[in-house]
Amino acid sequence: MRSASDGSGHLHDIAVVGLGAMGSAAALELTRRGLGVIGFDRFTPPHNLGSSHGDSRIIREAYFEHPVYVPMVQRAFELWRELERASGSVLLRSTGGLMIGARDSTLVAGALRSAQLHGLEHSLLSADEIRARYPVLNPQPQMVGVWESRAGVLAPEACVAAQIEQAQRRGATLRFGEPVIRWEADAQHVGVFTAQGHYRAKQLIISAGAWVNSLLPGTPLPVRVERQVLHWFAPARDADAFAPERCPIHLWQFDGGRFFYGFPDLGAGVKLAFHHGGETTRADGVGRDVAPDEVAALRDALKRFVPAADGPCLSSVVCLYTNAPDEHFWIDRHPAHANVWVASPCSGHGFKFAPVIGEILADLVQRRQARFDLRLFRWR
Ligand SMILES: Cc1cc2nc3c(=O)[nH]c(=O)nc-3n(C[C@H](O)[C@H](O)[C@H](O)COP(=O)(O)OP(=O)(O)OC[C@H]3O[C@@H](n4cnc5c(N)ncnc54)[C@H](O)[C@@H]3O)c2cc1C
Repeated sequence: MRSASDGSGHLHDIAVVGLGAMGSAAALELTRRGLGVIGFDRFTPPHNLGSSHGDSRIIREAYFEHPVYVPMVQRAFELWRELERASGSVLLRSTGGLMIGARDSTLVAGALRSAQLHGLEHSLLSADEIRARYPVLNPQPQMVGVWESRAGVLAPEACVAAQIEQAQRRGATLRFGEPVIRWEADAQHVGVFTAQGHYRAKQLIISAGAWVNSLLPGTPLPVRVERQVLHWFAPARDADAFAPERCPIHLWQFDGGRFFYGFPDLGAGVKLAFHHGGETTRADGVGRDVAPDEVAALRDALKRFVPAADGPCLSSVVCLYTNAPDEHFWIDRHPAHANVWVASPCSGHGFKFAPVIGEILADLVQRRQARFDLRLFRWR
């Protein structure tokens, strides 16, 4: 291993590559525990070129993807509130949430399973009950909805900014606009190389989101980067009924296996998007322009299920999912290096967990007992 050339000659406890949602959370938790952190990002987060932008992210507790996520999201609620108190920023807004689809759909059956297994406060609403309570939502007659009261909306850019600011306050050295070109590791140390210098640390966390495989040349993850488009529509009518006090976050499974989701109007219009169904892309080569037929496809769904939102499309933005084949997370030690950890990808549903993934990573690097069941997230 070559010696440090960053001018400091310093051996950092942990280097973190990628300071988006996961990396900034890890940097914060590690500095909270008194460890010396150096972090790198190719841009200056929060930015709109990765996976953590677009004004809003859903947080929900009756987790349809698997009940194992429920204790993690419960901890995440606590940690987001802690971060709000520490930073003085408003990060999480409660709205309640509805998961709507056929009774036996993945979404409804999965949400019910998690709610029942973990004794969560919830109710099952018929299509008529949904329409009566939330007049802007228009389920088909055979659809039902799992209502949960804790769900809400996170402000992703503010969350990342708060994590970064709090980590820096506690002493993390975070270097922006400095892409990591490569790294190397031996049993004791890691070396991290950028165009500006090379740096040494005892351990390395790779949290590079959609770029993760550019940092794992010999051991790429079997992930697919997926282009996703977010759209904001002006309400065509009943604008008041989209207010966050009156409209919950809503996820839909329709026409078999298709998903979309929507938010209340937080000031910029009603945000709606498909979950999956996007084209495969690369983090550096993704098309950022949104075609009229992409707006039209979303409009077809909203005309059916949220018809009051059928006003002009105000804006559309491209974002990136990094999907594992089973759509679970990837949080584990590198198979060839005991001091290198990977915390990506999060398969389009990771944001809400960022601070808890920060805690998990800190436990892993400190070789502490895991507080959650991490088997779904192992290297596979
Ligand atoms: C459209 C959309 C909607 C979503 N909705 C939800 C939702 O409602 N709820 C939810 O919980 N989750 C949601 N997600 C998923 C969630 O946002 C992601 O799982 C999460 O943001 C991923 O965080 P990350 O830290 O892995 O990636 P990012 O936040 O993208 O961070 C990766 C960072 O690595 C940096 N980087 C890359 N390569 C290098 C390098 N070589 N050197 C230095 N830095 C590097 C990048 O610049 C970037 O800042 C959504 C995602 C998208 C795209």
